[in-house]
Amino acid sequence: MRGVERFDLRLAGGTVLVGGAGLCAVDVLVTGGRIAALCEPGTAVDAAEVVEVRGLTVLPGAIDAHVHLGQDITYPRDDEDTAAETAAAAAGGVTTVLAYLMTPEPYDEVHPGVVARMERSAQVDFGFHFCIVTEEQLGRIPGYAEELGVSSFKFFMNFRGEEGRYLGLPGNDDGFLYDLLRTAAASGTMIDPHAENIEIVWRLRQQAAGAGQPPLQAWNAVRPPLVEAEAEQRAAYLAGATGASMYAVHVSSQAALEVLVAARRRHRHVFVETCPHYLTHDADSPLGLRGKVNPPLRQAADREALWAALAEGVIDVVGSDHVPRHHSKKTGDIWSASAGFPGLQTLLPVLLSEGHRRRGIPLDRVVDTVTARPARLFGLHPRKGTVAVGADADLAVVDLQASSVVDADSQVSAAGYSIYEGWELGCKVVHTIVRGAFAWRDGQLLPGARGRFLPRPHSGAAALAGVGR
Ligand SMILES: [Zn+2]
Repeated sequence: MRGVERFDLRLAGGTVLVGGAGLCAVDVLVTGGRIAALCEPGTAVDAAEVVEVRGLTVLPGAIDAHVHLGQDITYPRDDEDTAAETAAAAAGGVTTVLAYLMTPEPYDEVHPGVVARMERSAQVDFGFHFCIVTEEQLGRIPGYAEELGVSSFKFFMNFRGEEGRYLGLPGNDDGFLYDLLRTAAASGTMIDPHAENIEIVWRLRQQAAGAGQPPLQAWNAVRPPLVEAEAEQRAAYLAGATGASMYAVHVSSQAALEVLVAARRRHRHVFVETCPHYLTHDADSPLGLRGKVNPPLRQAADREALWAALAEGVIDVVGSDHVPRHHSKKTGDIWSASAGFPGLQTLLPVLLSEGHRRRGIPLDRVVDTVTARPARLFGLHPRKGTVAVGADADLAVVDLQASSVVDADSQVSAAGYSIYEGWELGCKVVHTIVRGAFAWRDGQLLPGARGRFLPRPHSGAAALAGVGR
């Protein structure tokens, strides 16, 4: 270490999860928003600010790879909305969000405005996935990746006919999916299919499947695991046949998981995401309409299968599928209530508490699903997702001895509620640091538009192979 260097910040006395080395008793030195050095505690260095983190654990800031923004969840249209949701991220130790933009408009027109809005309001760094719904958008995928820095693309397999109308999205078919996968394979990008066979759902609905059952069981009965598993199998087969990278979002059931694991044996570029709620809740959870989500909450056996897969490293990423819609939209009956709920603020605490502390899954395994793994898959490595010299100083400083009870008042998202209300979580996010600046300090928000757009020209296999770096 150069003796004359003056660092901006020293995190002193903590236990640090160092990339490739596990937990180490080192101090973290930050300069210019990056991790400048790791040093032995007690080493004499000149730092403008020293923050004591004794007894605390310093993790890479979490990356939430599955986020929806905007009250209509198509794209962020309002600075206050963006500020609130990214503040929820900061409160939960999340330093990067990857948000879905979902519109039939050309992204060349939408994207610059959204980037500008978020650069003046977001409190954490951000990138995007685009939902591809028109031929024009499909044709622009190579340009979206190279010119706009967006290289992962959602496809709603369930948006047949009028199913996507509520989001203003046109219907599609498997031919479109096939071309999407071919285009992704040729451009070093990745497809994120939402896998549900809606034609089976329509029939189950007509046959009044789930009639007489409690709301969340009824929702699961009309969109059962086979609907998800069949669609995952179809998408994964086509991904293999075209050589495309596929990222299976929000895998919710054991049946879907098994299909994907089998598909991965033939085509290794099939990646699996689940969400915290599929690990912690099921259709018997007492959430009422607040628990409505697609795919539905399943059964206890599915939950256990997902935890086992996470522990074994079969699950690549845990993303929150954060939806910021206000709780007043979660009313009526199970058929009319809006789907989805907020999850940004609880993603990391729930994984640390329920995965690591209560189930004993090793800390690095749990943390990997929200840091290094998404960073590698989405082309953010080595800048994001790891504590290493030269990486961005994105850090979540957590207390793994503390416990905290989730309540509505402490939720920062405009949604105004959490499905974890009343849960006692065995950890606390003490500080969240984004490129060297505190966004959350001693349990308080430090608002400020510090977020920057992260261009990602490659995702999936091309990103893992380091293409373009
Ligand atoms: Zn989603």
